[in-house]
Amino acid sequence: MKSISILSLILINAGILTGNSAPSETAVRWVSKSKEYQAVCQQTYLSAWEKVKEGAKKTSSPWAVVMDIDETLLKNSQYQIELNAKNASHSQEAWEAWVNRTEAKPVPGAKEFILKMRGLPNGRIIFLSNRFARNTEATRRNLQKHGLTSKNDVFLLRKDKKDTKANRQREVAAGSGRMAPHVKMKILAWFGDAAHDFSDDPKLKWGFQKFMLPNPVYGNW
Ligand SMILES: [Mg+2]
Repeated sequence: MKSISILSLILINAGILTGNSAPSETAVRWVSKSKEYQAVCQQTYLSAWEKVKEGAKKTSSPWAVVMDIDETLLKNSQYQIELNAKNASHSQEAWEAWVNRTEAKPVPGAKEFILKMRGLPNGRIIFLSNRFARNTEATRRNLQKHGLTSKNDVFLLRKDKKDTKANRQREVAAGSGRMAPHVKMKILAWFGDAAHDFSDDPKLKWGFQKFMLPNPVYGNW
């Protein structure tokens, strides 16, 4: 018999361990209403700006930052609020309908970071997201509405289910595959809201080259 401890069962029932439970309303409310969420995001982007600014000064070669999109740059709490109101749960179909509405708002601090970053020479953004590549145009339009795109940005979205983030992170590191047509770039920073958004290179450190945004609504934990 598969063992699951009585304690785990009690904690799952009490909502303390998540199992595969639906996102909690408390988590959604924290992201959509709290000043604390806004402060953590702004704090992350402000400290990233200090590091990226310094890094850009020290390099004469082309450079980039790698950014996840959902819950890193764009906030999707409205999607979750609407699902909760309908007593519905997340599905690929509902998600893509939301993506194509292009109504997601920027995560606090993200726009300010990007605008400042655009003022530095030789920098680009590589958007590395698990949104499917078929939604690249909708994604670009949503980002454009908030002034978050530039024509030399790279969109590395997911070709198919087998195209993992790790796959695309390797292409970024090696300048191979979809990165081959682009000039080789030094990566100054990685941004994400989940562990798999980051390169597993042990030389990269939190708060120096890796910047995590909070997401209590969903994840592989
Ligand atoms: Mg994300």
